[in-house]
Amino acid sequence: MKPEKDKRSARPSQRIKMHIMGSAGDVSGSLFYFEYSSPQGKTTRFLLECGLHQEHEEINRQKRLPKGVEAKDINFVIISHAHIDHSGWLPALVKDGFKGAVYTHPATKDLLDFLLLDSGRLQENAADRVNRFIARRQKKAEANGKKKRRIPLSVPLYTAEDVPLCFPLFKQINYNQLYTLADGIKMRFTEAGHILGAAVVTITIGEGEDACTICFTGNVGRATPPMLRPLAAVKNADYVISESTYGNKLHKERDRLKTLAEYINNAYARAKVKDRATGCGVIVIPAFAVDRVPTVLHDVQTLSNRGLIPNMAVYLDSRMAIAGAAVYRKYPALFNDEVRQQLENGVDPFAPPRYLECTKPEQTNALYENQNEPIIIVGSSGMAAGGKILRHLEKRLVQKNSTVIFVGYQGTGALGFDLVNNKPKHVRVHGKVLPVRATIEYMSDYSGHADYEEIIAWMSKFENKPRKTFLVHGDGGALEEFKGHIEKALGWSVVVPQRRQCFEL
Ligand SMILES: [Zn+2]
Repeated sequence: MKPEKDKRSARPSQRIKMHIMGSAGDVSGSLFYFEYSSPQGKTTRFLLECGLHQEHEEINRQKRLPKGVEAKDINFVIISHAHIDHSGWLPALVKDGFKGAVYTHPATKDLLDFLLLDSGRLQENAADRVNRFIARRQKKAEANGKKKRRIPLSVPLYTAEDVPLCFPLFKQINYNQLYTLADGIKMRFTEAGHILGAAVVTITIGEGEDACTICFTGNVGRATPPMLRPLAAVKNADYVISESTYGNKLHKERDRLKTLAEYINNAYARAKVKDRATGCGVIVIPAFAVDRVPTVLHDVQTLSNRGLIPNMAVYLDSRMAIAGAAVYRKYPALFNDEVRQQLENGVDPFAPPRYLECTKPEQTNALYENQNEPIIIVGSSGMAAGGKILRHLEKRLVQKNSTVIFVGYQGTGALGFDLVNNKPKHVRVHGKVLPVRATIEYMSDYSGHADYEEIIAWMSKFENKPRKTFLVHGDGGALEEFKGHIEKALGWSVVVPQRRQCFEL
Protein backbone atom coordinates (compact mmCIF):
# COMPACT_ATOMS: atom_id res chain seq x y z
CA MET A 1 0.00 0.00 0.00
CA LYS A 2 1.28 3.42 -0.96
CA PRO A 3 2.01 5.80 1.89
CA GLU A 4 -0.76 8.36 2.43
CA LYS A 5 1.59 11.23 1.61
CA ASP A 6 2.07 10.09 -2.00
CA LYS A 7 -1.66 9.65 -2.53
CA ARG A 8 -2.34 13.15 -1.18
CA SER A 9 0.37 14.90 -3.23
CA ALA A 10 -1.27 13.46 -6.36
CA ARG A 11 -4.40 15.38 -5.37
CA PRO A 12 -3.22 18.92 -4.80
CA SER A 13 -6.75 20.27 -5.01
CA GLN A 14 -7.43 19.66 -1.30
CA ARG A 15 -5.40 21.46 1.36
CA ILE A 16 -5.64 21.31 5.15
CA LYS A 17 -3.50 23.61 7.23
CA MET A 18 -3.20 23.50 11.00
CA HIS A 19 -1.67 26.41 12.92
CA ILE A 20 -0.74 25.74 16.55
CA MET A 21 -1.76 28.99 18.27
CA GLY A 22 -1.71 27.94 21.93
CA SER A 23 -0.81 25.30 24.56
CA ALA A 24 2.48 24.68 22.74
CA GLY A 25 5.27 24.18 25.25
CA ASP A 26 2.94 24.99 28.15
CA VAL A 27 -0.38 23.95 29.68
CA SER A 28 -2.55 26.97 28.99
CA GLY A 29 -4.41 28.82 26.22
CA SER A 30 -5.36 25.90 23.95
CA LEU A 31 -6.09 27.23 20.44
CA PHE A 32 -5.68 25.51 17.06
CA TYR A 33 -6.58 27.16 13.77
CA PHE A 34 -7.58 24.99 10.79
CA GLU A 35 -8.04 26.03 7.19
CA TYR A 36 -9.59 23.61 4.71
CA SER A 37 -9.60 24.41 0.98
CA SER A 38 -11.92 21.93 -0.71
CA PRO A 39 -11.46 20.50 -4.23
CA GLN A 40 -14.40 22.75 -5.23
CA GLY A 41 -12.37 25.79 -4.21
CA LYS A 42 -14.29 26.60 -1.01
CA THR A 43 -12.31 27.62 2.08
CA THR A 44 -13.52 26.83 5.61
CA ARG A 45 -11.74 28.27 8.62
CA PHE A 46 -12.32 27.01 12.12
CA LEU A 47 -10.85 26.93 15.60
CA LEU A 48 -10.44 23.84 17.72
CA GLU A 49 -10.51 25.23 21.30
CA CYS A 50 -10.64 28.89 22.23
CA GLY A 51 -8.71 28.97 25.49
CA LEU A 52 -7.62 31.84 27.67
CA HIS A 53 -3.92 31.88 28.48
CA GLN A 54 -3.80 31.89 32.27
CA GLU A 55 -0.02 31.70 32.73
CA HIS A 56 1.11 34.48 30.37
CA GLU A 57 -1.86 36.80 30.30
CA GLU A 58 -0.27 39.22 27.82
CA ILE A 59 -0.68 36.52 25.14
CA ASN A 60 -4.47 36.98 25.30
CA ARG A 61 -4.06 40.51 23.99
CA GLN A 62 -1.76 39.55 21.13
CA LYS A 63 -3.06 38.59 17.70
CA ARG A 64 -3.94 34.96 18.30
CA LEU A 65 -5.06 34.14 14.77
CA PRO A 66 -2.67 33.58 11.84
CA LYS A 67 -1.54 36.60 9.82
CA GLY A 68 -4.33 37.96 7.64
CA VAL A 69 -7.12 36.08 9.45
CA GLU A 70 -9.68 38.05 11.46
CA ALA A 71 -12.30 36.86 13.98
CA LYS A 72 -15.11 37.50 11.46
CA ASP A 73 -13.41 35.10 8.97
CA ILE A 74 -13.75 32.09 11.31
CA ASN A 75 -16.71 29.89 10.33
CA PHE A 76 -17.05 27.96 13.59
CA VAL A 77 -15.37 27.00 16.87
CA ILE A 78 -15.22 23.58 18.56
CA ILE A 79 -14.70 23.47 22.35
CA SER A 80 -13.70 20.16 23.99
CA HIS A 81 -14.58 21.07 27.60
CA ALA A 82 -15.47 23.90 29.95
CA HIS A 83 -12.11 24.67 31.59
CA ILE A 84 -11.24 28.31 30.94
CA ASP A 85 -7.85 27.48 29.40
CA HIS A 86 -9.86 25.72 26.64
CA SER A 87 -12.82 28.10 26.38
CA GLY A 88 -12.16 31.46 28.06
CA TRP A 89 -10.94 33.38 25.00
CA LEU A 90 -14.33 32.93 23.27
CA PRO A 91 -15.84 36.22 24.56
CA ALA A 92 -12.77 38.07 23.22
CA LEU A 93 -13.22 36.39 19.81
CA VAL A 94 -16.93 37.32 19.78
CA LYS A 95 -16.06 40.89 20.80
CA ASP A 96 -13.67 40.98 17.82
CA GLY A 97 -16.47 40.05 15.39
CA PHE A 98 -16.84 36.24 15.39
CA LYS A 99 -20.45 35.31 14.60
CA GLY A 100 -20.26 31.59 13.73
CA ALA A 101 -21.43 28.52 15.63
CA VAL A 102 -19.73 27.19 18.78
CA TYR A 103 -19.97 23.39 18.93
CA THR A 104 -19.75 21.79 22.35
CA HIS A 105 -21.41 19.22 24.63
CA PRO A 106 -24.61 20.46 26.38
CA ALA A 107 -23.01 19.96 29.84
CA THR A 108 -20.05 22.10 28.73
CA LYS A 109 -22.44 24.85 27.66
CA ASP A 110 -24.21 24.68 31.06
CA LEU A 111 -20.88 24.97 32.89
CA LEU A 112 -19.74 27.81 30.62
CA ASP A 113 -22.90 29.78 31.46
CA PHE A 114 -21.34 30.67 34.81
CA LEU A 115 -17.62 30.00 34.21
CA LEU A 116 -17.39 32.57 31.39
CA LEU A 117 -19.30 35.16 33.44
CA ASP A 118 -16.86 34.59 36.28
CA SER A 119 -13.96 34.93 33.84
CA GLY A 120 -15.43 38.29 32.69
CA ARG A 121 -15.61 39.48 36.31
CA LEU A 122 -12.00 38.37 36.89
CA GLN A 123 -10.89 40.35 33.79
CA GLU A 124 -12.66 43.43 35.16
CA ASN A 125 -11.10 43.00 38.61
CA ALA A 126 -7.62 42.59 37.11
CA ALA A 127 -8.02 45.82 35.10
CA ASP A 128 -9.35 47.62 38.21
CA ARG A 129 -6.33 46.51 40.23
CA VAL A 130 -3.92 47.83 37.58
CA ASN A 131 -5.83 51.12 37.32
CA ARG A 132 -5.85 51.63 41.09
CA PHE A 133 -2.09 51.00 41.12
CA ILE A 134 -1.60 53.58 38.33
CA ALA A 135 -3.77 56.11 40.22
CA ARG A 136 -1.76 55.60 43.42
CA ARG A 137 1.54 56.08 41.61
CA GLN A 138 0.28 59.23 39.90
CA LYS A 139 -0.93 60.65 43.20
CA LYS A 140 2.44 59.90 44.80
CA ALA A 141 4.30 61.49 41.89
CA GLU A 142 2.12 64.61 42.13
CA ALA A 143 2.66 64.85 45.90
CA ASN A 144 6.42 64.75 45.24
CA GLY A 145 6.03 67.65 42.81
CA LYS A 146 6.78 65.51 39.74
CA LYS A 147 5.06 66.19 36.45
CA LYS A 148 2.01 64.01 35.89
CA ARG A 149 2.69 61.37 33.20
CA ARG A 150 -0.19 60.12 31.13
CA ILE A 151 -0.31 56.33 31.55
CA PRO A 152 -3.00 54.57 29.50
CA LEU A 153 -5.60 52.87 31.68
CA SER A 154 -5.98 49.11 31.61
CA VAL A 155 -9.06 47.89 29.73
CA PRO A 156 -10.42 44.40 30.51
CA LEU A 157 -9.98 41.84 27.73
CA TYR A 158 -13.75 41.42 28.08
CA THR A 159 -16.31 42.09 30.79
CA ALA A 160 -19.13 40.02 32.31
CA GLU A 161 -21.47 42.14 30.17
CA ASP A 162 -19.74 40.97 26.96
CA VAL A 163 -20.18 37.28 27.84
CA PRO A 164 -23.93 36.75 27.10
CA LEU A 165 -23.22 37.62 23.43
CA CYS A 166 -21.56 34.18 23.18
CA PHE A 167 -24.54 32.17 24.41
CA PRO A 168 -26.80 32.27 21.30
CA LEU A 169 -23.90 30.88 19.24
CA PHE A 170 -23.71 27.55 21.09
CA LYS A 171 -24.81 24.39 19.25
CA GLN A 172 -25.09 21.16 21.23
CA ILE A 173 -23.06 18.08 20.32
CA ASN A 174 -23.79 14.77 22.05
CA TYR A 175 -21.32 11.93 22.50
CA ASN A 176 -20.91 9.22 19.85
CA GLN A 177 -22.95 10.89 17.09
CA LEU A 178 -21.54 12.05 13.78
CA TYR A 179 -22.29 15.68 12.95
CA THR A 180 -21.67 17.53 9.68
CA LEU A 181 -20.28 20.96 10.59
CA ALA A 182 -19.66 22.25 7.05
CA ASP A 183 -19.24 20.88 3.52
CA GLY A 184 -16.65 18.12 3.83
CA ILE A 185 -16.16 18.48 7.62
CA LYS A 186 -17.63 15.94 10.04
CA MET A 187 -17.06 15.57 13.77
CA ARG A 188 -17.69 13.10 16.57
CA PHE A 189 -17.31 13.61 20.34
CA THR A 190 -16.37 10.66 22.55
CA GLU A 191 -16.12 10.60 26.35
CA ALA A 192 -12.89 11.94 27.85
CA GLY A 193 -13.49 11.15 31.56
CA HIS A 194 -11.92 14.51 32.52
CA ILE A 195 -14.82 16.72 33.69
CA LEU A 196 -18.56 16.61 32.96
CA GLY A 197 -19.13 17.05 29.20
CA ALA A 198 -15.42 16.79 28.30
CA ALA A 199 -14.87 15.26 24.87
CA VAL A 200 -12.19 13.71 22.73
CA VAL A 201 -12.81 15.37 19.36
CA THR A 202 -12.45 13.40 16.12
CA ILE A 203 -12.75 15.51 12.97
CA THR A 204 -12.84 14.11 9.44
CA ILE A 205 -12.02 16.59 6.69
CA GLY A 206 -12.57 15.79 2.99
CA GLU A 207 -14.38 12.91 1.36
CA GLY A 208 -13.55 9.41 0.13
CA GLU A 209 -9.88 8.79 -0.57
CA ASP A 210 -8.99 12.34 0.41
CA ALA A 211 -10.56 12.06 3.86
CA CYS A 212 -8.17 13.04 6.63
CA THR A 213 -9.03 12.31 10.27
CA ILE A 214 -7.68 14.31 13.19
CA CYS A 215 -8.18 13.10 16.75
CA PHE A 216 -7.71 15.68 19.52
CA THR A 217 -7.67 14.41 23.11
CA GLY A 218 -8.69 17.71 24.72
CA ASN A 219 -7.93 16.78 28.33
CA VAL A 220 -8.34 13.13 29.27
CA GLY A 221 -9.05 11.74 32.73
CA ARG A 222 -7.78 8.82 34.77
CA ALA A 223 -8.34 5.24 33.53
CA THR A 224 -11.06 4.85 36.18
CA PRO A 225 -12.45 8.30 37.02
CA PRO A 226 -14.08 8.53 40.48
CA MET A 227 -17.57 9.30 39.12
CA LEU A 228 -17.61 9.88 35.38
CA ARG A 229 -17.72 7.28 32.65
CA PRO A 230 -14.17 6.51 31.52
CA LEU A 231 -12.23 7.71 28.48
CA ALA A 232 -13.64 5.95 25.39
CA ALA A 233 -11.42 4.25 22.81
CA VAL A 234 -10.88 5.78 19.36
CA LYS A 235 -9.93 3.36 16.61
CA ASN A 236 -8.42 5.43 13.81
CA ALA A 237 -6.89 8.79 12.97
CA ASP A 238 -4.36 10.11 10.48
CA TYR A 239 -3.20 12.66 13.05
CA VAL A 240 -3.42 12.70 16.83
CA ILE A 241 -3.08 15.85 18.95
CA SER A 242 -2.56 14.77 22.54
CA GLU A 243 -2.43 16.53 25.87
CA SER A 244 0.75 15.87 27.88
CA THR A 245 0.06 17.28 31.36
CA TYR A 246 1.42 14.13 33.04
CA GLY A 247 3.78 13.22 30.15
CA ASN A 248 6.58 12.51 32.61
CA LYS A 249 4.62 11.44 35.68
CA LEU A 250 2.77 8.39 36.96
CA HIS A 251 0.01 8.72 39.54
CA LYS A 252 0.44 7.10 42.95
CA GLU A 253 -1.36 3.78 43.06
CA ARG A 254 -3.25 4.00 46.31
CA ASP A 255 -6.84 3.77 47.48
CA ARG A 256 -8.24 7.32 47.30
CA LEU A 257 -11.17 6.67 49.65
CA LYS A 258 -8.99 4.94 52.22
CA THR A 259 -6.50 7.84 52.16
CA LEU A 260 -9.25 10.45 52.50
CA ALA A 261 -10.80 8.50 55.40
CA GLU A 262 -7.41 8.37 57.14
CA TYR A 263 -6.83 12.13 56.70
CA ILE A 264 -10.37 13.01 57.87
CA ASN A 265 -10.21 10.69 60.90
CA ASN A 266 -6.84 12.12 61.98
CA ALA A 267 -8.15 15.64 61.41
CA TYR A 268 -11.30 14.84 63.41
CA ALA A 269 -9.22 13.58 66.36
CA ARG A 270 -7.29 16.89 66.38
CA ALA A 271 -10.44 18.97 65.82
CA LYS A 272 -12.51 17.59 68.68
CA VAL A 273 -9.92 18.81 71.20
CA LYS A 274 -11.52 22.16 72.09
CA ASP A 275 -9.37 25.25 72.31
CA ARG A 276 -10.64 27.56 75.03
CA ALA A 277 -10.41 30.61 72.80
CA THR A 278 -11.42 29.20 69.42
CA GLY A 279 -13.55 26.10 70.05
CA CYS A 280 -13.33 22.91 68.03
CA GLY A 281 -11.08 22.57 65.01
CA VAL A 282 -12.32 22.72 61.42
CA ILE A 283 -11.37 20.67 58.34
CA VAL A 284 -11.05 22.99 55.34
CA ILE A 285 -10.96 21.42 51.86
CA PRO A 286 -10.11 23.90 49.08
CA ALA A 287 -11.12 22.30 45.76
CA PHE A 288 -11.68 23.35 42.14
CA ALA A 289 -15.32 24.39 41.72
CA VAL A 290 -15.94 22.15 38.72
CA ASP A 291 -15.54 18.40 39.15
CA ARG A 292 -13.24 18.33 42.18
CA VAL A 293 -15.90 19.71 44.58
CA PRO A 294 -18.64 17.21 43.56
CA THR A 295 -16.08 14.38 43.64
CA VAL A 296 -14.91 15.25 47.16
CA LEU A 297 -18.52 15.63 48.36
CA HIS A 298 -19.40 12.25 46.86
CA ASP A 299 -16.41 10.63 48.59
CA VAL A 300 -17.32 12.20 51.95
CA GLN A 301 -20.90 10.95 51.46
CA THR A 302 -19.66 7.41 50.66
CA LEU A 303 -17.34 7.34 53.70
CA SER A 304 -20.07 8.69 56.01
CA ASN A 305 -22.65 6.18 54.75
CA ARG A 306 -20.20 3.32 55.25
CA GLY A 307 -19.44 4.52 58.78
CA LEU A 308 -15.76 4.98 57.93
CA ILE A 309 -15.66 8.61 59.12
CA PRO A 310 -17.68 10.43 61.83
CA ASN A 311 -20.98 11.90 60.66
CA MET A 312 -19.83 15.52 60.52
CA ALA A 313 -21.67 18.59 59.24
CA VAL A 314 -20.34 19.47 55.76
CA TYR A 315 -20.71 23.00 54.34
CA LEU A 316 -20.16 23.96 50.71
CA ASP A 317 -19.24 27.64 50.71
CA SER A 318 -18.63 28.64 47.08
CA ARG A 319 -21.12 30.23 44.68
CA MET A 320 -19.33 28.71 41.69
CA ALA A 321 -19.11 25.22 43.19
CA ILE A 322 -22.83 25.29 44.08
CA ALA A 323 -23.62 26.20 40.44
CA GLY A 324 -21.22 23.47 39.24
CA ALA A 325 -22.81 20.78 41.43
CA ALA A 326 -26.26 21.76 40.08
CA VAL A 327 -25.06 21.12 36.50
CA TYR A 328 -23.57 17.77 37.58
CA ARG A 329 -26.97 16.70 38.95
CA LYS A 330 -28.57 17.36 35.53
CA TYR A 331 -26.71 14.64 33.62
CA PRO A 332 -27.18 11.15 35.19
CA ALA A 333 -26.22 9.38 31.93
CA LEU A 334 -22.66 10.77 32.07
CA PHE A 335 -21.76 8.99 35.34
CA ASN A 336 -20.68 5.49 36.32
CA ASP A 337 -23.43 3.04 37.33
CA GLU A 338 -23.27 3.84 41.06
CA VAL A 339 -23.69 7.63 40.72
CA ARG A 340 -26.17 7.30 37.83
CA GLN A 341 -28.42 5.01 39.90
CA GLN A 342 -28.30 7.41 42.85
CA LEU A 343 -29.41 10.28 40.61
CA GLU A 344 -32.11 8.19 38.92
CA ASN A 345 -33.44 7.13 42.36
CA GLY A 346 -33.67 10.74 43.48
CA VAL A 347 -30.66 10.52 45.83
CA ASP A 348 -28.27 13.47 45.68
CA PRO A 349 -24.81 11.88 45.19
CA PHE A 350 -23.07 15.11 46.21
CA ALA A 351 -24.81 15.60 49.55
CA PRO A 352 -23.24 13.93 52.62
CA PRO A 353 -25.80 13.14 55.40
CA ARG A 354 -25.41 16.52 57.18
CA TYR A 355 -24.90 18.86 54.24
CA LEU A 356 -25.59 22.54 53.64
CA GLU A 357 -24.89 24.77 50.64
CA CYS A 358 -24.19 28.29 51.89
CA THR A 359 -26.32 30.59 49.75
CA LYS A 360 -26.80 33.40 52.29
CA PRO A 361 -24.11 35.62 53.85
CA GLU A 362 -25.25 34.69 57.38
CA GLN A 363 -24.61 31.00 56.65
CA THR A 364 -21.03 31.82 55.60
CA ASN A 365 -20.56 34.14 58.57
CA ALA A 366 -21.63 31.39 60.99
CA LEU A 367 -18.69 29.32 59.76
CA TYR A 368 -16.21 31.97 60.92
CA GLU A 369 -17.55 31.62 64.47
CA ASN A 370 -16.15 29.23 67.07
CA GLN A 371 -17.53 25.72 66.49
CA ASN A 372 -18.89 23.35 69.14
CA GLU A 373 -18.07 20.27 67.07
CA PRO A 374 -15.60 19.51 64.24
CA ILE A 375 -17.03 20.48 60.83
CA ILE A 376 -15.91 20.24 57.20
CA ILE A 377 -15.89 23.34 54.97
CA VAL A 378 -15.46 22.74 51.22
CA GLY A 379 -14.81 25.75 49.00
CA SER A 380 -12.95 27.10 46.00
CA SER A 381 -10.44 28.07 44.68
CA GLY A 382 -8.60 24.77 44.74
CA MET A 383 -5.20 26.46 45.00
CA ALA A 384 -6.43 28.98 47.61
CA ALA A 385 -5.64 31.68 45.07
CA GLY A 386 -8.76 33.75 45.89
CA GLY A 387 -12.41 33.56 46.84
CA LYS A 388 -14.19 32.91 50.15
CA ILE A 389 -11.86 30.02 51.02
CA LEU A 390 -9.19 32.62 51.87
CA ARG A 391 -11.30 33.98 54.72
CA HIS A 392 -11.73 30.47 56.11
CA LEU A 393 -7.98 29.90 55.86
CA GLU A 394 -7.28 33.25 57.50
CA LYS A 395 -9.35 32.05 60.46
CA ARG A 396 -8.23 28.40 60.60
CA LEU A 397 -4.53 28.28 59.57
CA VAL A 398 -3.55 29.71 62.94
CA GLN A 399 -5.46 26.99 64.86
CA LYS A 400 -3.52 23.92 65.98
CA ASN A 401 -6.68 21.78 66.02
CA SER A 402 -7.65 22.62 62.39
CA THR A 403 -6.61 20.84 59.18
CA VAL A 404 -6.45 21.93 55.54
CA ILE A 405 -6.63 19.17 52.92
CA PHE A 406 -5.63 20.27 49.40
CA VAL A 407 -6.95 17.90 46.74
CA GLY A 408 -5.74 19.08 43.35
CA TYR A 409 -2.98 20.59 41.25
CA GLN A 410 -1.13 23.46 42.97
CA GLY A 411 0.44 26.03 40.59
CA THR A 412 3.66 27.82 41.49
CA GLY A 413 3.01 31.08 43.31
CA ALA A 414 -0.38 30.10 44.75
CA LEU A 415 -0.90 29.99 48.53
CA GLY A 416 -1.80 26.29 48.22
CA PHE A 417 1.51 25.55 46.47
CA ASP A 418 3.43 27.29 49.22
CA LEU A 419 1.57 25.50 52.04
CA VAL A 420 1.87 22.07 50.40
CA ASN A 421 5.44 22.25 49.11
CA ASN A 422 7.33 24.66 51.36
CA LYS A 423 5.74 23.93 54.75
CA PRO A 424 6.14 27.61 55.72
CA LYS A 425 5.98 28.73 59.36
CA HIS A 426 4.20 31.91 58.28
CA VAL A 427 2.08 32.89 55.28
CA ARG A 428 0.45 36.10 54.10
CA VAL A 429 -3.35 36.03 53.70
CA HIS A 430 -5.27 39.21 52.80
CA GLY A 431 -2.13 41.22 53.57
CA LYS A 432 -1.76 39.77 57.09
CA VAL A 433 1.19 37.61 58.13
CA LEU A 434 -0.18 34.53 59.91
CA PRO A 435 1.57 31.70 61.73
CA VAL A 436 0.72 28.30 60.23
CA ARG A 437 -0.31 26.05 63.12
CA ALA A 438 -2.92 23.93 61.34
CA THR A 439 -1.98 20.57 59.82
CA ILE A 440 -1.64 20.71 56.02
CA GLU A 441 -2.38 17.59 53.99
CA TYR A 442 -2.23 17.00 50.25
CA MET A 443 -3.89 14.37 48.04
CA SER A 444 -2.85 14.20 44.38
CA ASP A 445 -5.35 11.34 44.02
CA TYR A 446 -8.03 13.70 42.68
CA SER A 447 -6.15 14.57 39.49
CA GLY A 448 -8.43 14.93 36.45
CA HIS A 449 -5.60 14.05 34.05
CA ALA A 450 -4.42 10.63 32.89
CA ASP A 451 -0.73 9.88 33.41
CA TYR A 452 1.48 8.89 30.47
CA GLU A 453 0.92 5.16 30.88
CA GLU A 454 -2.85 5.67 30.86
CA ILE A 455 -2.71 7.77 27.66
CA ILE A 456 -0.38 5.26 25.99
CA ALA A 457 -2.85 2.47 26.94
CA TRP A 458 -5.59 4.50 25.17
CA MET A 459 -3.32 5.12 22.14
CA SER A 460 -2.48 1.40 21.90
CA LYS A 461 -6.14 0.74 20.97
CA PHE A 462 -5.71 2.56 17.62
CA GLU A 463 -5.91 0.02 14.79
CA ASN A 464 -3.42 1.94 12.60
CA LYS A 465 -0.41 4.06 13.46
CA PRO A 466 -1.29 7.73 12.91
CA ARG A 467 0.91 9.50 10.37
CA LYS A 468 1.94 12.01 13.01
CA THR A 469 1.19 12.73 16.66
CA PHE A 470 1.48 16.27 18.01
CA LEU A 471 2.11 16.74 21.73
CA VAL A 472 0.66 19.86 23.34
CA HIS A 473 -0.64 21.00 26.75
CA GLY A 474 2.44 20.07 28.77
CA ASP A 475 5.53 21.71 30.21
CA GLY A 476 8.84 21.33 28.38
CA GLY A 477 10.08 18.32 30.35
CA ALA A 478 6.71 16.53 30.18
CA LEU A 479 6.48 16.99 26.39
CA GLU A 480 9.96 15.66 25.60
CA GLU A 481 9.69 12.70 27.98
CA PHE A 482 6.21 11.82 26.74
CA LYS A 483 7.53 11.86 23.15
CA GLY A 484 10.17 9.31 24.17
CA HIS A 485 7.62 7.11 25.97
CA ILE A 486 5.26 7.01 22.94
CA GLU A 487 8.08 6.35 20.45
CA LYS A 488 9.38 3.51 22.60
CA ALA A 489 6.01 1.92 23.43
CA LEU A 490 4.19 2.34 20.12
CA GLY A 491 6.79 3.33 17.50
CA TRP A 492 4.65 6.34 16.48
CA SER A 493 6.09 9.43 14.79
CA VAL A 494 5.82 12.25 17.35
CA VAL A 495 6.44 16.00 17.15
CA VAL A 496 6.45 18.67 19.85
CA PRO A 497 5.25 21.77 17.98
CA GLN A 498 6.10 25.40 18.73
CA ARG A 499 3.51 28.12 19.11
CA ARG A 500 2.57 29.65 15.72
CA GLN A 501 4.01 26.65 13.86
CA CYS A 502 1.97 25.65 10.80
CA PHE A 503 1.56 22.11 9.44
CA GLU A 504 0.05 20.96 6.19
CA LEU A 505 -1.95 17.79 6.83
ZN1 LIG B 1 -9.24 20.61 31.56
